[in-house]
Parts: sequence; C-alpha cells; structure tokens
Amino acid sequence: MKNSGNGKVYIVGAGPGDPELVTVKAVRLIQQAEVILYDRLVNKELLQHCSPETILIDCGKAPRAHAMPQEQIQQTLVRYALEGYTVVRLKGGDPLVFGRGTEEALELAEWGIPYEIVPGVTSAIGAAAASGIPLTHRHYAASFACVTGSRCHGSGPDIRWDLLAHSVDTLAIYMGVSELPNIREQLLKHGKPSSTPVALIERGTTPDQRVIVGTLADIDTVAVSRKLTNPALIIIGEVVRIREQLLHAEQQALSMIG
Ligand code: SAH
Repeated sequence: MKNSGNGKVYIVGAGPGDPELVTVKAVRLIQQAEVILYDRLVNKELLQHCSPETILIDCGKAPRAHAMPQEQIQQTLVRYALEGYTVVRLKGGDPLVFGRGTEEALELAEWGIPYEIVPGVTSAIGAAAASGIPLTHRHYAASFACVTGSRCHGSGPDIRWDLLAHSVDTLAIYMGVSELPNIREQLLKHGKPSSTPVALIERGTTPDQRVIVGTLADIDTVAVSRKLTNPALIIIGEVVRIREQLLHAEQQALSMIG
C-alpha cells in the first residue's frame, strides 16, 4: 500500500501492433508507470519500456485462461489508484474505438480518481496504411466508417447495414471475422454490388501481416480457404483496388531497375 490520494490512471492507446506505432506520450507513460494493466492485443514489446519494478497485469489472461472480466479490470484500476499508484491502462489501437475505454473512464470519474485518455493509432488506420489501401481517395471514396462486425447479444444499437451499404464509401469492419458470411449477406441484401472489392488484413502492421483480397461475391469462401484468423480487419470498398495499382507500379519499377 502506497500513500493514498495521489494515484492517477492513464488510459493509453498502444497502437495497432507495430510497437513503433505508439505516441511519444505513451512511451513516456509506460516508462513512468508503477502498474500496467494490458490487453491481449497489445504488443508485449511495448512493456520493454517499463521499469523492472512495474507491476504488470495481463488482462487477456486471467486464471483458467479467460480474459479478465471488464468489472474486475475496473475494480483493479480503482484499487491501485486509490492506493496512490500511477497506473497505465494499455489498450490495443485507440482506447475509445471499440475499446471500452469509456466504461473505465466513467468508473474512475465516479470514484473521483484523476484520469487521462491518450489516443492511439486505431487498427483500421494502421492496417490500411500497412496494406496500401487508402480509406479515402479523391476519385473513389469521400467517406469511411468504422463498424463493429459483432454486436454483443442485445446490447447497443443494431448495425444499420441498410444505410452502410449505400451511404458510406469505405467500410472498415472490426471484430468481423466470425461474422463475415452474415456481413456479406446483409450488404448484398441491401444492394451493395457483389463486385465490390474486399480486403481482409490479418495482424496488420506486424511482421505476420497477411492481406487477402476478394469481392463481396466470394470473400467468405476465400476467407475460409485461406484460413483467416483474428485479429483481422475487413475493408470493403473501391479503394481496395488502389492496393493492386500500388503493387503493380512497384513491380514495374523493380523490373526496370533489375
Ligand atoms: N481499440 C482497438 C479495437 C479493439 S476491437 C483499435 O482501436 O484498434 C478488436 C478488433 O480490432 C479485432 O477484432 C480486429 O478487427 C481489430 N484489430 C486489432 N488489431 C488488429 C491488427 N493488428 N490487424 C487487424 N485488425 C486488428
């Protein structure tokens, strides 16, 4: 138990996977942290920045190999902060993009505990950049939306596939791997052309990154045959074609040099 009263919690974005895709502020806070609670998708290399004395809590691996329940994470944050520790809550990507950072901030606010939210590069932005797919493009896409592919049973608003099929040019879908057949069906049902290109980016920005490309017509079978696994991001829209253009231009340049 430390002197109580001086604790603070930093809810920090750890970026999309590449340990260099974090903010200077995130690195400084990891260096200064006395306690770090980190999620499964956080690149563990980031923990090299912390001091040997830092208390490290892996929220992705609680006893019996289950993820630590959200309530327990919040209780742990509160407990350490009340004991006076400087706590970093490290979350994959950006803490507020499908990250439940708000629930944690709300809990801290209710306890009167000071906290700060530090943004991170969200995986849609990271994976798009690392795979050569622009989410917007002067000629092909004036808008993009970040969408969750899974909705916890009955919680929150329904996903408006009917509107998303028409009103947004590029869809970046998180947590959609197991829902891919359903997502595809919904978009086709609501009139999205089956020729719309789709990219599946597995482990974006990491050395294991894999990009699988298809169209709405075949993407679910392609995903199965190529054994797509989590974490992966689904990008749907004409911008996916730009990747082919980039790859083609790169190959031509290489062949001219060679
Ligand atoms: N707060 C995170 C998202 C958490 S939801 C962020 O801002 O990125 C978890 C989902 O993020 C995964 O199911 C997957 O769709 C996506 N994701 C996270 N890391 C990824 C990566 N390296 N490559 C592709 N998708 C990733």
